[in-house]
Amino acid sequence: MLIPHDTRIALDIVVDLVNTAPERAGSPEVDELGDVSSLYTFVKKYNISDVGELGEHDLNAVLEVRSRFEEVFAAPDARTAAELINRLVTSAGTTPQLTDHDGYDWHVHYFAPGASVAEHLAADCGMALAFMIVAGEQERLRRCEAPGCGRAFVDLSRNRSRRYCDSRTCGNRLHVAAYRARRREAAG
Ligand SMILES: [Zn+2]
Ligand SMILES: [Zn+2]
Repeated sequence: MLIPHDTRIALDIVVDLVNTAPERAGSPEVDELGDVSSLYTFVKKYNISDVGELGEHDLNAVLEVRSRFEEVFAAPDARTAAELINRLVTSAGTTPQLTDHDGYDWHVHYFAPGASVAEHLAADCGMALAFMIVAGEQERLRRCEAPGCGRAFVDLSRNRSRRYCDSRTCGNRLHVAAYRARRREAAG
């Protein structure tokens, strides 16, 4: 599956965004986007540009968008996901623009000029998810199956076989399972 550079980044962002939610962050009480300064950190991490000064209303709008994205990851089928994504992208008021900024090859930005950070995320991450639906890959939008984890991830493995997120604990679980399987085979 060929995923354009910007789509890939937008997928990273949406996964990270969904995983800031308290019930997914390892500790039930901690929201990793609990205040405006953590929103600044998030925006900086991904170089989300032109969002201006951020305030409480930006934070609330981003948390609202995050809930919508959580629903997309929980969608049972492509049609449900498509409806959710359509609503999200429409609400962001997109204006697709071709750009080749900063040495990247031609790609499309979806957020409108002057978009808030929430609209920026809704538009560009929404379209990245839309791309997955178009490619027939909705089922690659997953939640980690490790007990007590449930973090969102996009399974980019060739045979869509990934079941665990790449956090240290869950990633290791995968290696341990593979190791045991090899040992069983060797003992066989
Ligand atoms: Zn770009
Ligand atoms: Zn996990």
